[in-house]
Amino acid sequence: MQIRVPKVNLPRVVIVGGGFGGIELAKRLKNKPFQVVLLDKNNYHAFPPLLYQIATAGLESASIATPFRKIFEGYSNLIFRLAEVKEIVAEENRVVTDIGDITYNYLVIATGSTTNFFGMKDVEQHAMPMKSIPEALDIRSMLLQNFETAVNLEAKSEEQESLIDIVVIGGGPTGVELAGALAELRNHVLPEDYSELDFGQMDIYLVEMGPRLLPPMSEIASAKTKEFLEKLGVQVWLNTALVSFDGYKAVFNNGKTIPTTHLIYAAGVAGCVPNGFTSEAVARGRRLSVDHQLRVKGLHNVFAIGDVAAFIPEGKQVPLPMVAPVSIQMATHLSNYFKAGLPENFAGFRYVDKGSMATVGKNKAVVDLKFWKTQGTLAWLIWMFVHLMSIVGFGSKIGVLLNWTQSYFSSDKRFRLIINRYVKKN
Ligand SMILES: Cc1cc2nc3c(=O)[nH]c(=O)nc-3n(C[C@H](O)[C@H](O)[C@H](O)COP(=O)(O)OP(=O)(O)OC[C@H]3O[C@@H](n4cnc5c(N)ncnc54)[C@H](O)[C@@H]3O)c2cc1C
Repeated sequence: MQIRVPKVNLPRVVIVGGGFGGIELAKRLKNKPFQVVLLDKNNYHAFPPLLYQIATAGLESASIATPFRKIFEGYSNLIFRLAEVKEIVAEENRVVTDIGDITYNYLVIATGSTTNFFGMKDVEQHAMPMKSIPEALDIRSMLLQNFETAVNLEAKSEEQESLIDIVVIGGGPTGVELAGALAELRNHVLPEDYSELDFGQMDIYLVEMGPRLLPPMSEIASAKTKEFLEKLGVQVWLNTALVSFDGYKAVFNNGKTIPTTHLIYAAGVAGCVPNGFTSEAVARGRRLSVDHQLRVKGLHNVFAIGDVAAFIPEGKQVPLPMVAPVSIQMATHLSNYFKAGLPENFAGFRYVDKGSMATVGKNKAVVDLKFWKTQGTLAWLIWMFVHLMSIVGFGSKIGVLLNWTQSYFSSDKRFRLIINRYVKKN
């Protein structure tokens, strides 16, 4: 079966994945002499940097998701299809999806990344990852379900404690932001909802394998982040690696254990590479090796951008990090390359690093720019401004701003809803 798209006399660019990279490329090819076909397994573009606020009841999911058909209203050369890509058959310029096949002149893989459990099967089975909106909603449901169960148990029993204690694995931005938001929830919101529980008993742990939090940021940002988290009551364990988790007890490489049913895993990522690529094209971390024009190794008309692309800048040993600005800049480069007609002598891709930031909670954030670093309230205001501006859709921006304003003054997190019950995997 074929995916039905109009037959036109234009080269067809098939983009797989409408994340930061995919939608930026599609926008930049608006009304240009290409037929652009965007395929995504979801009908919406999501904004992962705010997933932790969905998981901790600070935002509703619609605030960070925009339907593709809304984003591309008025685009005459773009076709969207809700389709999960299963395989690439590069010899035939063909993409195989769950709704049929489609051929291309140029193919762009922008499928992002997924959680990497590094072969720890028990952790994969029992821990909760947070890479998508459904996963963030699962974390929220599990958290609230655990409290509903805990109020019915003997006070301060081991069983009650293992339901309310939370362990977050991974001291990168996701782990840090999540641990901070969970601590705010515990400090300001949950004691009102569950007055029968003793919140002095609720422990939140953030466990990081390396010697400091937020490793890619400056030493000062790492130290301040740890200080902010500890002020909020998070127990930060550095130089500690998770070894196993059976759904009830987390075991670490230093022999320590934590009894908990709620372990959130934010410690590893791997590219989402569709089937069909040769092993030479797939680099470490399951990412596609790309050259200076973002062409996948060994293929002249297949490109990869964003998290799934392993681009190693000249003179460097490691690929660019999996962050939104890399995806957006790659998409910009590729659109310029396409619009120029893919000339041989086109200048190669160069990434401009404008800095990084992370937030821990209200008035607590860290910002590292090239020539300036700041921490605390000003950093938090910068973080909010940058994230608000980056959310796609005016309606979503307004929704997020209103929620943030309300929770700034009330410290409330309004979306403490179990919409779909989380059912533990066996
Ligand atoms: C919790 C979290 C917090 C983050 N915080 C930050 C931050 O603060 N700052 C920052 O810069 N970066 C942050 N990141 C990283 C950032 O979100 C990614 O770098 C960025 O989303 C990558 O963009 P992308 O276009 O490569 O892929 P994505 O944005 O992941 O999009 C991939 C798209 O591909 C689709 N897709 C995947 N597989 C298929 C398939 N087989 N068929 C069809 N469609 C498919 C998906 O549905 C998705 O729409 C965060 C990530 C997470 C998970």
